[in-house]
Amino acid sequence: MASRRDAHHAHKAAVAGLGKVLSKRARNVCELCTGGSPLGVVEVEPVYETPDPERAALLCLTCRDVLDTKPKYKLEATALRFLEEVVWSDVLPVQLSAVRLLRRLSSEDVVWARDCLDGLYLDESVEALLQ
Ligand SMILES: [Zn+2]
Repeated sequence: MASRRDAHHAHKAAVAGLGKVLSKRARNVCELCTGGSPLGVVEVEPVYETPDPERAALLCLTCRDVLDTKPKYKLEATALRFLEEVVWSDVLPVQLSAVRLLRRLSSEDVVWARDCLDGLYLDESVEALLQ
């Protein structure tokens, strides 16, 4: 039987393997800020057991850092204005990531993020995934 560690490595490899499909969807730019390389695959919650393009996004290093920022640190809000547009994306994992970041900014009292969320309509099924 494969160890947990092997399973973890296999999972990581499978996630990285989504890169090809995602590059096509992303047209080789970051799916959040449309910035350049180095691009990398991140999984978007709620993930499936088997990595899936519908639960992953291709993001630049800066956006990956933003998503990894611990709650105790404030986000650099002015650098994230692109979220106002990308939150309307019809690519589900991109929209999920954008809404989560906007909610976080809103909780950090960023007015434009709050306004943007006020004007946003989310499908019930999308809202359910955000829980
Ligand atoms: Zn980016």
